[in-house]
Amino acid sequence: MTPAPPTTSGPAPARRPGVALVNLGCRVNRVELDLMASELERAGAEVVGEREAAAVVVNTCAVTGEAEAKTRKAVRRVATLPQRPLVVATGCVANLFSDELEALAPGVVVERDKARVAARVIEGLGLVPQAPAPAGDDPAEACASPAHRDAPTPTGRTRPGIKIQDGCDNRCTYCIVWRARGRARSLAADEVLLAVREARARGAREVVLTGINLGSYRDAAAGDLALPGLLDLLLERTDVERIRLSSIEPPDVTPELCAVMAAAGERVAPFLHVCLQSGCDETLRRMARVYRTDLFRHVAATAREAVPGIALGTDLIVGFPGETDAEFEASLAFCREMRFARMHVFRYSRRPGTPAATMPGQVPAPVSAERGRRARELADEMRLAQARSLVGEKDLVVVQSPGRGVSGGLFDAAVDPALPVDSLVRVRVTGVRGDATLETEPL
Ligand code: SF4
Repeated sequence: MTPAPPTTSGPAPARRPGVALVNLGCRVNRVELDLMASELERAGAEVVGEREAAAVVVNTCAVTGEAEAKTRKAVRRVATLPQRPLVVATGCVANLFSDELEALAPGVVVERDKARVAARVIEGLGLVPQAPAPAGDDPAEACASPAHRDAPTPTGRTRPGIKIQDGCDNRCTYCIVWRARGRARSLAADEVLLAVREARARGAREVVLTGINLGSYRDAAAGDLALPGLLDLLLERTDVERIRLSSIEPPDVTPELCAVMAAAGERVAPFLHVCLQSGCDETLRRMARVYRTDLFRHVAATAREAVPGIALGTDLIVGFPGETDAEFEASLAFCREMRFARMHVFRYSRRPGTPAATMPGQVPAPVSAERGRRARELADEMRLAQARSLVGEKDLVVVQSPGRGVSGGLFDAAVDPALPVDSLVRVRVTGVRGDATLETEPL
């Protein structure tokens, strides 16, 4: 006879209030939402899908007109969900156009100060804020138990980002982010140390240092510590297994930074995403970028000399106002020369409120679409070539889901499905698939 299922006594546990998090835009926005998620979960909320949410946070993006349109659509969508959740909008569009955002739908709350977003949701849901638990002084001890090691990060992300910098003092003519986020400012080195130790204690194997203009990192109180010094400090005072830098401006890839990366060996990922935007000096001048191709060429050579095999990524804008056919060809030729392992191609889109939006020589959409297609074709070609150059090489892969991971050079890697998620595994690259995914075998 089949035994009767065990009966439970007492009332069912009360459900935790659900909060949905909607992210638009860059990795920095994602990292900020992760922090909000931690604060909300400590207060007793649960991260859920939009349809189950009592509250929704929308972290908005204004980087292009298209991103802003997506933001408005997302806010309208969540504000009209049948359960009518509390909607808190924050981020770049909230900073620039708060009135318009509030007028999109009744009940939309705009919170420009991201540090206050979680508190507003907590208050709206009738919860009580909770302070974070202190991280242990000895990160090795905190991570000693396998249970700790295998624990996912609070939002299930295995490579947490740590925002060490915000804002930007440059004024690129296509960009509105510097206006939305304000002047450059940095997290104190002590707080960065704490954040990295906390991430380690939660089981992270790799942390990604992020910022709007990462290379402008400075801590005046710590002897005017800049990014290379900070990296050195983190390597010396934490046991983090791998640090990765997110995108960086070309002038900030200094010989000092390359030297720290070289000395760190595997503990700093052999990858730099150096924002080029155009490979043509004339276009760079109109963009008001603070470097020219000569400097970029020098930076790439310095990085490659210091860290042999380093993968370089970049962002490229095509169809910037005034970009002639000859400028575009020069830009593409420069990208080819740089042998980027990863190139994000953006078609220029007019961003009202920026100098570039009113520049003469706006490029017709079909022309920029064709340039985008050719640039993406080159991006795929360069990526495949770099991936193929790795065959036979050793690599370190962070396993992010069963059978899938991320290599040091930020390639997708196929790994043995039996390897535990969140582990950092040493592999040899045995082949490359058509989409540049690395095939690997454990070492
Ligand atoms: S460096 Fe230029 S593109 Fe990047 S955030 Fe600053 S102003 Fe914008």
